[in-house]
Amino acid sequence: MKHLDIEKALQSKEKKSVVVCGWVRSFRESANVAFFDLSDGTSFQKLQVVVDRSALSVDAACTKLGAAVRVTGKLVPAYKGEGNDLNAESFELLGECPPDYPIQKKRTTLEFLRGIPHLRLRTNTFQAVFRVRSVAAQAIHRYFHAHGFYYINTPLITASDCEGAGEMFRVTTQPWNAAAKSEEEYFRNDFFGTKAGLSVSGQLEGEVAATALGKIYTFGPSFRAENSNTTRHLAEFWHIEPEVAFAELPDVIELAESLLKYLIKAVLKECKDELKFFDSFVEKGLIDKLTHVATSKFAVCTYTEAVDILEKQNARFQFPVHWGSDLQSEHEKYLTEEVFKRPVFVTDYPKEIKSFYMKQNADGKTVAATDLLVPGIGEIIGGSEREADYKKLVSAMEERGMDMAAYKQYLDLRKFGSVPHGGFGLGFERFVMYCTGIENIRDVTLFPRSVKNIM
Ligand code: ATP
Ligand code: MN
Repeated sequence: MKHLDIEKALQSKEKKSVVVCGWVRSFRESANVAFFDLSDGTSFQKLQVVVDRSALSVDAACTKLGAAVRVTGKLVPAYKGEGNDLNAESFELLGECPPDYPIQKKRTTLEFLRGIPHLRLRTNTFQAVFRVRSVAAQAIHRYFHAHGFYYINTPLITASDCEGAGEMFRVTTQPWNAAAKSEEEYFRNDFFGTKAGLSVSGQLEGEVAATALGKIYTFGPSFRAENSNTTRHLAEFWHIEPEVAFAELPDVIELAESLLKYLIKAVLKECKDELKFFDSFVEKGLIDKLTHVATSKFAVCTYTEAVDILEKQNARFQFPVHWGSDLQSEHEKYLTEEVFKRPVFVTDYPKEIKSFYMKQNADGKTVAATDLLVPGIGEIIGGSEREADYKKLVSAMEERGMDMAAYKQYLDLRKFGSVPHGGFGLGFERFVMYCTGIENIRDVTLFPRSVKNIM
């Protein structure tokens, strides 16, 4: 269909005759003129279409909120604001929109919109969210490409169960009532002849690639059967996982900080209208926050230091903290929002609360892990230097009663030319939340999947 994108129509220097298509976002009229706001998704700003009612009568169906129309007209400098208006010469209805269209001016709370995921993208909020999301995704590939990382794709169906014992979705083709005398027989009869599931992380395979290609990253979905119904967890989320050879924990931290700053700068630069919108309607001060974060140093503190700080505040927490306890969201938020007031890397966690593959520190108690905590969200990145010593890795796995045979390939990486290496996982949706101020992860995802919800 020959037409001009509204983004181009708004910016065109040449005041020419054009055809545009879009959905009616608002309509108002007076005795002599009528005004339409038209959106085709190509820009956050809408195109104002002006109708001289003495010269042109418009079919009532074209004036309905949500109706799809094609308009021919002449571009003129905008009466108000920047860009152009369109003086309409003719209208054509592409698709009518009856009055039960659920996106009316009132009623549009985020909760209400969650019930109509197929239509909520027609609102300003979701248009802005998904533009930011797209810009950030492109920037991720640009960053890694510019820094010499290879983009690799790790399998989504896996037989190894990286850390997520209870958190893995099973993949099966067995009928619900498949008869089997034992668990072993049940899985032997299944599609892969063994128990399989959806991957919770591409890290283990990422390490395979990094210990040959040097610097790699993955950017794809991870699946977690998280039974926690929080505003930060989905059953299916997008995961950015760089993995780097010849890297120690400080290198991992440096990479994480540099990537985040690059992404934030890209969003600040390429999503100005969207950020202005979020700053006005979602999180006051958002642009200042992001500008500041993009240019100032992130804080770093050890888990032990963090626990010293938190223990003094135990009275305020639902779960009091002591050395050895996992940090809960309330603790993470307190650290980043009240103590450091900026993103903070917490490092060197007790080995008991972290995964088997993390590098064991010389103190015998902690591992070279780091979580990046940010205000408003808590953990946005989890990473570590990986254990590169064969014997230490085996002993950590034995302590956890793991099945060594299932990890033969992973252990081989420590046997044949082992090198210090590390990486991290960044939750893409959590990053988009941070950049937009949107507080519920369900509102930065097209069709969010979570416990008891798969609309
Ligand atoms: P949390 O403690 O918040 O549950 P985690 O420690 O389980 O996260 P990691 O295994 O370290 O998370 O995963 C790396 C990153 O992936 C996290 O920092 C987070 O940004 C993101 N992430 C993890 N689980 C989810 C989820 N269920 N939904 C959305 N993002 C997630
Ligand atoms: Mn983590």
